[in-house]
Amino acid sequence: MNSPAHLLDGLRCSICGALNVLWLDPLRGLVECRECGQTALTIPETGKETS
Ligand SMILES: [Zn+2]
Repeated sequence: MNSPAHLLDGLRCSICGALNVLWLDPLRGLVECRECGQTALTIPETGKETS
């Protein structure tokens, strides 16, 4: 039972307006709405390179 995605509690989808339906997929850097299916790219760290 290893579910990478987790619920973004308290956030509202800007497309359909539903609350607590946004899930973050950290592996793909995506936020997906379970209500309307909208996905958006997240920008976790900008201008920062670690190697
Ligand atoms: Zn939505």
